[in-house]
Amino acid sequence: MIPYGRQDISQADIDAVVEVLRSDFLTQGPAIPAFEDAVARYCGAEYAVAVNSATSALHIACLALGVGPGDLVWTSPITFVASANCALYCGAKVDFVDIDPLTFNISISALRTKLEQVVAAALPLPKVLIPVHLAGASCDMEAISALGKEFGFRVLEDASHAIGGKYQESPVGSCRYSDITVFSFHPVKIITTGEGGMAVTNSPELHEKLTRLRTHGITRDESSMERESDGPWYYEQIDLGFNYRMTDLQAALGLSQLQRLDTFVARRNILAEQYKKAFEGLLIGDQKVPGDVTSACHLFIVRVDPLHHRHIFEVLRAEGVGVNLHYIPVHTQPYYERMGFQKGGFPEAEKYYSEAISLPLYPLLSTEEQGRIVAVVRQCLIS
Ligand SMILES: *Cc1c(COP(=O)(O)O)cnc(C)c1O
Repeated sequence: MIPYGRQDISQADIDAVVEVLRSDFLTQGPAIPAFEDAVARYCGAEYAVAVNSATSALHIACLALGVGPGDLVWTSPITFVASANCALYCGAKVDFVDIDPLTFNISISALRTKLEQVVAAALPLPKVLIPVHLAGASCDMEAISALGKEFGFRVLEDASHAIGGKYQESPVGSCRYSDITVFSFHPVKIITTGEGGMAVTNSPELHEKLTRLRTHGITRDESSMERESDGPWYYEQIDLGFNYRMTDLQAALGLSQLQRLDTFVARRNILAEQYKKAFEGLLIGDQKVPGDVTSACHLFIVRVDPLHHRHIFEVLRAEGVGVNLHYIPVHTQPYYERMGFQKGGFPEAEKYYSEAISLPLYPLLSTEEQGRIVAVVRQCLIS
């Protein structure tokens, strides 16, 4: 089976991990700040905080932004469940904004309309909006940031798909239009640490909170302490945090992978272009990427006739093509339906779900393999 995504591990990656294994620190050592500094520098952001998953990063990012019981967080229904669950972890409520049928990202016009309706009905506004850069293509962050200023919400980018992508010439993660950006380093994502994630920000206060929440809410920094130090052993727990730390083994792998990030993204873009060319003229919708966005091309998503959707999916799987569907609309999950969400709530997201297929896309996908995938898809569409 050709998978829809997979990692690319080099000898240099392996050597970097082995070097840490032979060193003094398997965790809480020097590889962590080295990886954090490198990601911050790559993104043009001030600070980066490495954690054990993007899910953890989203959780502590929500907490750092003050999300708690009684608050509301909005996100896209076309995302992995973690983008919404993070708000529930904080005791807040979640709501969704429908997608744009062309970009598959959160619809800016639907967002504005929903914000205006909420104000008109004197209902609560969201405290935080979590835009998701689906398949690696940035949302319209300038428009989102402007709405955030107008309606008073903070912005947390779920860029789990998008490290290495660009928006308006700046790397995704620059946080020019957001408070915090989160990346995932799961093996199907752009670069990997096995499991792992990172939160980047330009705010020293948010950086301090994220760092503390990653390790139990404990600080060893005297300027953050509430009391006088008892001595050199002294630390204080001032928040309820977690053990969300990344290990040095993971950080060393991440730092090594980061050296090839641009190569990975370039290869992914070439493969995506080849898919587009191969399907030209066939009745398939793919993701529209605006002119000021360079996608990291995490996924190549096509939309097909809903009447043939399941059939095409099954044929491709039967032919050894590991297609997937990103994503089942979050609001239709049983857990979310129990909270009162219903089918019909976000029609564009639900229509997308009835048509979308993710084709295999990863740097090591060969031209021959891609040719085989294209042939099977064409066969399905023509017959
Ligand atoms: C993968 C992913 C996550 C979660 O990432 P983990 O590192 O596996 O926790 C969150 N949001 C989106 C959009 C993702 O694709």
